[in-house]
Amino acid sequence: MKKSATPEWVPLEEAVPIDLFKAEVQAWAQRIGVTPHEIHVRSMKRKWASCSSRGRLTFNIELLYQPSDFRRQVIVHELLHLKIPNHGPLFKALLRAYLATHSPDHT
Ligand SMILES: [Zn+2]
Repeated sequence: MKKSATPEWVPLEEAVPIDLFKAEVQAWAQRIGVTPHEIHVRSMKRKWASCSSRGRLTFNIELLYQPSDFRRQVIVHELLHLKIPNHGPLFKALLRAYLATHSPDHT
């Protein structure tokens, strides 16, 4: 998008407010059946997100500028780690299953 067009207007896909992003994470947590201890959003150099064994999730703030499909992949991936701490076959199967079902506001 050209900057000269309408400077004040930012499409949702380009910048999601942090609160909305956290609400998205919580909604997915409920659906997956996990309870993240803390949700942090900050700039990260090498990762899109990380999770600690104690359920503390950290997401890269750059995700707020990514397309919603990609954001969802990262959110579901990280939340699933609260259930399965590796990338084994079960993790991959569940990830695929959750990403195949779309949230109601995303048709
Ligand atoms: Zn992972």
